[in-house]
Amino acid sequence: MRVGVKSDIGRMRRANEDAYWVSPPWYAVADGMGGHVAGEVASRLAVNAVESVALEEEGTPPELIRRAVQRANSAVWQQSQLKASLTGMGTTLTVARIDAGQCMIGHVGDSRCYIWREATIRQLTHDHSIVAELVRTGSLTESEAIGHPQRNLLTRALGMGPHIEPDIIEETVFPGDKILLCTDGLTSVVPVTELARLLGNDTTPDNLARRLVSMANDRGGPDNITVLLIEIAAP
Ligand code: MN
Repeated sequence: MRVGVKSDIGRMRRANEDAYWVSPPWYAVADGMGGHVAGEVASRLAVNAVESVALEEEGTPPELIRRAVQRANSAVWQQSQLKASLTGMGTTLTVARIDAGQCMIGHVGDSRCYIWREATIRQLTHDHSIVAELVRTGSLTESEAIGHPQRNLLTRALGMGPHIEPDIIEETVFPGDKILLCTDGLTSVVPVTELARLLGNDTTPDNLARRLVSMANDRGGPDNITVLLIEIAAP
């Protein structure tokens, strides 16, 4: 398994509120939101909670993934209740555990997971956002969604209440597949066709992650950008 990861502040923001955590077979990205430092706190709490579940390794992959998302939610929710400065903070979380040809994903929010295989790319997660809902129901086209003023409004995020129901997605993976976890700082400016083209380059995940981040910055870098790329190796 080769892994590349890059997180960048972008060109418009004063702080990087994204967080990631990599410790094979676990991979996570989170995009925090909230005033002052709250966004950074939320995304950091979320990935730390994933780490604590990963260390336990007790349970089946879907149980582990669900527990990771739920513990992350509790951590963010509880802290937001304790400190006035953290009230209302939240975060996305997309976490993958890739083991024995199986990729198990837990997902809340509008960060994304894609799988690239033999020149085609497929989004494995659904965005929990108002705009994505409008696209799903046919009220908005994909191209209208890009740059939509309300694209940041989420319908589901961690830290909004004591309980969360994550999407759990299972995917069989094969040698040569590339799994991309990323925050919306990438996908809000780089269309999926270009993601597919770039991922087709025969270079290291590290190089690809760097190139994806530069691509987003070349398009103005309006948001923090986090890219985590895993290339599935032969067993
Ligand atoms: Mn973002």
